[in-house]
Amino acid sequence: MSRGETWAIVVAAGSGARLGADRPKAFVRFGERTLLAASLETLEDHDGIDGMVVVVPEGWEERTSLLVEDLCASKVAAAVAGGETRPESVAAGLAELPEATELVLGHDAARPLVDAALVDRVLAALRDGAEAVVPALDIVDTVKRVDGDGAVVETLVRAELRAVQTPQGFRRELLDRAYAGDLRDATDCASLAERAGARVLVVAGDPRNLKVTTSDDLQRAEALYRDG
Ligand code: C5P
Repeated sequence: MSRGETWAIVVAAGSGARLGADRPKAFVRFGERTLLAASLETLEDHDGIDGMVVVVPEGWEERTSLLVEDLCASKVAAAVAGGETRPESVAAGLAELPEATELVLGHDAARPLVDAALVDRVLAALRDGAEAVVPALDIVDTVKRVDGDGAVVETLVRAELRAVQTPQGFRRELLDRAYAGDLRDATDCASLAERAGARVLVVAGDPRNLKVTTSDDLQRAEALYRDG
């Protein structure tokens, strides 16, 4: 198999309304830096990644370029404005990828504790031939589907469920195809790949790789970061 380039799209264009901060979530302080900087450092240091595109809220592009300079994150080729929804933001990142891109990682800046071993697992599965890969954890809670009135419709079979994280990995042509379709109701990249008919492989996620949504999550992530 020819070895084209591997690029990461880091989506950081969410407002973070549920965090209640005075700035977009990705620019909120995390340890001595920001949530976005934490992910960028890890991905910058990973040998398997050739380049990155960062997608930020409109008006934050220049500040992001300064942050990237500060971090000496030389793999970041562009900081572009995202859209109203996550899939629109990913699409904005996809448009910036160079021709030579063969594999793409889609990563949420809201997951600052992503580590090299997790990136390794996703990339290894892609290099073994998978067209789409998601890291995921078993679910500990029982999950129920409810109707608009809050009544339970059904209880899902827990053993069949997984909580899915990022970075998610894809062959570039699949992602291009997936994002050319309907972008509605897609909370991750893989759901669009599934709609495009892809077989999405699951690899082991990382319990530390939590997603920061609320200020409680931020405190938990900072504690994990401090404790190494
Ligand atoms: O909102 P949520 O936490 O699910 O967002 C996941 C990731 O997608 C975050 O890193 C966020 O910045 C990003 N996002 C985006 N553009 C949007 C909405 C979310 O880049 N319009």
